[in-house]
Amino acid sequence: MEEKLTGIVLNGISYGESDKILSIYTLENGIVSAKIKGVKKAGAKLKFASEPFCFAEFIFSSRGDKRTVIGASLLESFYPIREDIVKYYAGATVLEFVRHFSKENIVNREFFISIIDCLKELSYGDSDATYTLAKFLIFALRHTGYALNFSGCSCCGNDIKGRTYFDYNSGGFYCEECFNGVGREINPATLAELKKIENGEALEDKPIKSLRLIDYYLVNKTEENLSSLKELLRIIY
Ligand SMILES: [Zn+2]
Repeated sequence: MEEKLTGIVLNGISYGESDKILSIYTLENGIVSAKIKGVKKAGAKLKFASEPFCFAEFIFSSRGDKRTVIGASLLESFYPIREDIVKYYAGATVLEFVRHFSKENIVNREFFISIIDCLKELSYGDSDATYTLAKFLIFALRHTGYALNFSGCSCCGNDIKGRTYFDYNSGGFYCEECFNGVGREINPATLAELKKIENGEALEDKPIKSLRLIDYYLVNKTEENLSSLKELLRIIY
């Protein structure tokens, strides 16, 4: 059976001498895996379709749940992401997030579009790449059931003044009087920075504090390590 799906390549693992197994996030089916043949040979026609960030309309031949890519027409390669190391690790963090937190057969059109928009902004936009990534991650956390709750202290509801705490179990922030969970005290400027990013307000510096907090949250709450985010933080710090 032939099947046509629109998707973005998240990653590819070598298989045999010249094939790869791709993980593709599709608009119609969520994450699918598919074999792509011969792409490691010189001059392979579908090589472009086996690279991360390739956004294309894929044609698969499928048998049961096994798919093989037999054709692809490129929609966007997001090439500028590969030419800048900060953009590259920001983009790779987006793909890694999707790979870890989206499930097979779960379709979420709004989330799919947010990924494409984020990669477009990284490729062609004027915003700082780390800002674009932080904005995407705040949105993506909400879409995958790990929303951060910025609306005051998660317990008493008051605006948090002074010492600020973050509970990684609830994704909430707390004032000194209320904090009684698992997590740690954070720099109050981190919360202010996260709120600004969510509202699309400009920052004076790169959002290192926010990206650090998100990394801390993901590691402790979900036990998933986004290695690209760690690498990005190492580069920009
Ligand atoms: Zn409180």
